[in-house]
Amino acid sequence: MTKKHKNIPIFIPHEGCPNCCVFCSQRKITGVKDTELSLLTELGRCRALIEESLKTIDGTSETEIAFFGGSFTAIDEDRMIALLELGYEYVKNGRVSGIRLSTRPDFIDEHKLNILKQYGVKAVELGVQSMSDEVLMACKRGHKADDSRRSGRMIAEYGFEYVGQMMIGLPESTLETELMTAREIIESGAKCSRIYPTITIEGTELYQMYLDGRYRPLELDEAVERSSRVLELFLENGVKVLRIGLQSSEEMEKNPFYHSAFGELTWNALYYRKMKELLKGIEEKSVVFTVEKTHVSKAVGQKRSNVVRLAQESGKNIKIKGSPFHAAGEVTAEII
Ligand code: SF4
Repeated sequence: MTKKHKNIPIFIPHEGCPNCCVFCSQRKITGVKDTELSLLTELGRCRALIEESLKTIDGTSETEIAFFGGSFTAIDEDRMIALLELGYEYVKNGRVSGIRLSTRPDFIDEHKLNILKQYGVKAVELGVQSMSDEVLMACKRGHKADDSRRSGRMIAEYGFEYVGQMMIGLPESTLETELMTAREIIESGAKCSRIYPTITIEGTELYQMYLDGRYRPLELDEAVERSSRVLELFLENGVKVLRIGLQSSEEMEKNPFYHSAFGELTWNALYYRKMKELLKGIEEKSVVFTVEKTHVSKAVGQKRSNVVRLAQESGKNIKIKGSPFHAAGEVTAEII
């Protein structure tokens, strides 16, 4: 039986990041306010957080310490090593199985990867966001697509689990650039990915661009559709999608552009499209679709929206059932 995966997220907000991407408001995204902690205070805070989290995690889960939120490999090296040492203490005593972290593509090199190897880091998550230089420029990312290409490959070649994070609906981004981004992440050797919609957050440059009419946030339907196309491409290529949509926080819940069910809606859209496609070749009146056993509600849709819509459009009786033998995103049709 595969073990459940749990992360103990430790947010290192904006720390180490030399940049200010137009969409970035790390404090608001992570909900962490204090970025000016001394190293000792920070280590104490991290230890307390790890201990507290371990109390709530049952022993059957595979648990990792996750340094998320900022650009971990861009922070001061002594600080980075001190945090890694703390994490590694838990790896060595077997209380966690590894460490994962997120960072920027231009802060990966052999020296940094060698350090990460020494301290039990298993996965490196790269904020690729887009593989279009035009999009990266419009977002003031401060690096080029080539940096992501190079660092993604290096992460995979070093034997880390490479996780490519990308965004939907960035300035100058289109469905085509998003699919191209996903394709490049796959080709660089990613095992997993995360898909984030762009959220316009007050106080960011993107918010000003929106007020000035220089940026149009995607409508929810459009963002969901584009996200579902990217999801489909990842699944077809064996890349596991760890998350779709930003984590909820007090700040996010207040944001009118944030939708807490974005991930669910993306799965709904993927299954709707697949079932609609299968229906094209079916004459009979009743159809049973089979999907992965934990994905039945994703295929049925919120308030049964997919079943209702497909039944109305096709005039057929639609049923959906689960199977342990289907993969996530796989759908087959049976006629009854
Ligand atoms: S690289 Fe990440 S942390 Fe740095 S400004 Fe951009 S989004 Fe924020």
